[in-house]
Amino acid sequence: MSECVNLSACGFFKKYCQTKDLACKGFISMYCKGSKMNDCKRLQYKKETGTPPPDDMMPSGQMIK
Ligand code: SF4
Repeated sequence: MSECVNLSACGFFKKYCQTKDLACKGFISMYCKGSKMNDCKRLQYKKETGTPPPDDMMPSGQMIK
């Protein structure tokens, strides 16, 4: 699979997929469209709590300030 299963529903991706910010771009290419998608903390959050995480939570689990 080349893209995260949650891509179309993901608030982080929706909000930041057009970003020029290099850190966000890096996350998207590593997680959303890369080999680390199964390590995404947003996916884990959703699985554990049953609700989507805030849009500003990065795949690493930290919040964008
Ligand atoms: S941030 Fe996580 S849940 Fe959202 S699309 Fe990327 S890998 Fe999937």
